Amino acid sequence: MAYNGIVARVMADSIAVEVGLEPGDRLISVNGESIRDIIDLSFALSDECVELLIQKVSGEQEVLEIEKEYDEDLGIEFESAVFDGVRRCANKCIFCFVDQMAPGMRESLYVKDDDYRLSFLYGNFVTLTNTVPQDIDRIRRLHLSPLYISVHTTNGTLREKMLNNKNAGKIMEHLDTLITNDIEMHTQIVLCPDINDGEELEKTIRDLYSLHPNVISMAIVPVGLSRYRENCYSLQVFSPEKALDVITLVRKWQEKCRKRSGTSFVYLSDEFYITAGQPIPEYDLYDGFPQLENGIGLVRNFLHEWEQAPIITTGYDSPQHIDVVCGISAQKILEPLLQSISIANLTIRVIPIENDFFGNDISVSGLLTGQDIVNKLTQIGGTRTGVIIPGVALRKGEGVFLDNMTLDEVEKRLGIAVYAAYSAEELRQLLQAWR
Ligand code: SF4
Repeated sequence: MAYNGIVARVMADSIAVEVGLEPGDRLISVNGESIRDIIDLSFALSDECVELLIQKVSGEQEVLEIEKEYDEDLGIEFESAVFDGVRRCANKCIFCFVDQMAPGMRESLYVKDDDYRLSFLYGNFVTLTNTVPQDIDRIRRLHLSPLYISVHTTNGTLREKMLNNKNAGKIMEHLDTLITNDIEMHTQIVLCPDINDGEELEKTIRDLYSLHPNVISMAIVPVGLSRYRENCYSLQVFSPEKALDVITLVRKWQEKCRKRSGTSFVYLSDEFYITAGQPIPEYDLYDGFPQLENGIGLVRNFLHEWEQAPIITTGYDSPQHIDVVCGISAQKILEPLLQSISIANLTIRVIPIENDFFGNDISVSGLLTGQDIVNKLTQIGGTRTGVIIPGVALRKGEGVFLDNMTLDEVEKRLGIAVYAAYSAEELRQLLQAWR
């Protein structure tokens, strides 16, 4: 099989530049061995002398002999971390958000990956329904730990139904196998009302906690329902009452787990607390935020960061009117914080944006689109010096929203300066030193 290790970027002043590697070059082998992914590559490169076989864009092949320190990086970024293709999922989950994606979006948003390597490298959640014995053997040999596992339920029959996959039922056996091989895991549950909540959720928490500490944490996120649900399984969002039931159950288990092993073990995403009108748990109850990348504890972490950085400004010489944009669910969190700020000549408005693009059941800031922001701000008008949008709505490292609109485009359409704040500290800095 021809593997596809295409060089995307070479770092300035790196070994890669020195030996003439360029974007577009294809890595064929290292020391005569084919390379499947960057995990293989990192092992192959842990030597002082390496020989790279490269195919240039012209099709010509070149051998590059490199001498380096054994732990010295070559300075290459590849188009993909997996050279033999991303493993696709073998499921058809009843709650899958990819199936609810709007038509005409960028191709990567329709990719249903379920690849244990991306789980180890980037914390992507995998279901383990497509792993074969060779994968488990590789996970063991290379000690690819921790992994991030989408469990959803430990009831095998229910899991088969939720994932629409008759091979999905043996989740507890799969977790046991990983534990036998000394692999640690973070787990996740997508919670669907009347499907895997209530007693089913209690059983899942009990079963996963029985595998603690190898199962380090368990995150529960509510099902997200977009308006593109034609031909999808009929599901409901959480009502305030049902969200409160989940909170009550999880609080009980958090107390139990803290008493027995010193951590909360099971964590809820912010939406449950916001929907039920309940306070966000205290900072210590998140135990260092093991699933922050998965959105667990974002509000508490934001509030904590906000408290740490004091406002240090003498104010503005002329009036500034800043609009701070957020998803509907963040409004109640942001408003009191921003109202408490007093900076001379600065007026702040919090502008919650309804998600017309995906549908009004989606209230998180991370799924806001450029077009909804432009439409709302144009519609409400008012005096405005600038706009701050939540960085979480942009593709990581790039100024692009989910609907492909860029930050520059939003700025052009509004005719005003627009900046993204990726953290509480950045939001503070922007407000006290508007450019
Ligand atoms: S595992 Fe399920 S939720 Fe994830 S991409 Fe596949 S079908 Fe969708």
